[in-house]
Amino acid sequence: MADYFDEMGWQPLGEGEAPDHLLHLARLLRDFGMFDVLGEDKKLPPPASKDAVKNLKEVEIRDDNGEQCAVCLKNYSAKEIMKIMPCKHNFHSTCILPWLDKTNSCPVCRHELPTNDENYELYRKEKHREKQRAADIENLHNSMFS
Ligand SMILES: [Zn+2]
Ligand SMILES: [Zn+2]
Repeated sequence: MADYFDEMGWQPLGEGEAPDHLLHLARLLRDFGMFDVLGEDKKLPPPASKDAVKNLKEVEIRDDNGEQCAVCLKNYSAKEIMKIMPCKHNFHSTCILPWLDKTNSCPVCRHELPTNDENYELYRKEKHREKQRAADIENLHNSMFS
């Protein structure tokens, strides 16, 4: 694949330029392997459901604790709102919300939040069942041959 960002004519940021938030997200998506995984149509898994997002734990930062948000790569500083995903990864609320508005999984470990997309939920269940089946066969195999 030709470099997507070259094709789009995007330039690296110059000194003192503010990062374009969407561009940053797009880069993250590329590094995340989404463009490759999903193939030609570049479709992402659906956004996280509003409820799932609403239920994410929220913490106000008291002071700079040396921790970094994996989306913008900046340290947290006092008064910023941090969202904690079920997988315990945390991000600035302002960084993770636009992300979850596009796709349902943690930018770090791909832990998936529930979506409102019925088809996608069915697909996920099926995938889970398949894994379960493979594990069962593996167990059966082990119990018969060990
Ligand atoms: Zn951030
Ligand atoms: Zn995670």
